[in-house]
Amino acid sequence: MTPLLQAQGLRKSFGTQVVLDGLDLEVDAGGCVVLIGGSGSGKSTLLRCLNLLETVDDGQILLEGVDVSDPRADVDAVRSRIGIVFQAFNLFPHLTVLDNITLAPVRVHRVPRAEAEARAREMLDRVGLADKAGTHPDQLSGGQQQRVAIARALVNRPALLLLDEVTSALDPELVGEVLALLRELRSDGMTMVIATHEMSFARQVADTVCFLSDGRVLESGPPEQVFDAPRAPRLRSFLAAVT
Ligand code: ADP
Ligand code: MG
Repeated sequence: MTPLLQAQGLRKSFGTQVVLDGLDLEVDAGGCVVLIGGSGSGKSTLLRCLNLLETVDDGQILLEGVDVSDPRADVDAVRSRIGIVFQAFNLFPHLTVLDNITLAPVRVHRVPRAEAEARAREMLDRVGLADKAGTHPDQLSGGQQQRVAIARALVNRPALLLLDEVTSALDPELVGEVLALLRELRSDGMTMVIATHEMSFARQVADTVCFLSDGRVLESGPPEQVFDAPRAPRLRSFLAAVT
């Protein structure tokens, strides 16, 4: 079976700094790939490249076998197939929760407003915030705001959801509700690529853990292998420092 996503030989530099150095990644439909690695190892850059927020210097990104890294690819269409959620929730403060979620479908994807609102309410229900549609973001806790951002990323029914350190900006007591939601999405079969520093969570949800170092996936495998029998000395010292 063709993987849902295949990234092959991705290269990306900022000036003289090589951030992705021939990186390969495969994500199967229904799979959950967790990216780990030190600060600056390229996790966010990789996710931004997959969502076409950055252009790669070389390499290919195939989504369902189609090369979306081709400059002629329809960026909006690709982004509706690949949702992304960031560390900072990036909600629009002047819009209600409902309008935050319907903005892109209505403005970018030309979904009729009534349909966009119906989908938005369905997604709010899914993230446990059905009663917050008319609320403004500043009246919500950080955990609730991040759940709204996840609902917004899901509203186009993407084939793949990218999550970049989505709990890192939260107070410790709010981390659990967001991780619980991700576990639920996982058991519903949502395909995800998750960059995280939460190693115990990574162990629970990942079917593949990828350790990024020097712009490549230095070691990858099932969580038991990567966490309990790491081979690369760099992975060993990373794990010793974070766990
Ligand atoms: P991670 O998410 O693993 O911490 P990043 O992908 O954010 O790593 O960053 C990898 C490296 O690329 C870092 O050294 C960072 O400073 C650099 N970098 C990321 N984005 C940019 C940018 N827009 N311009 C210049 N350098 C960048
Ligand atoms: Mg990052």
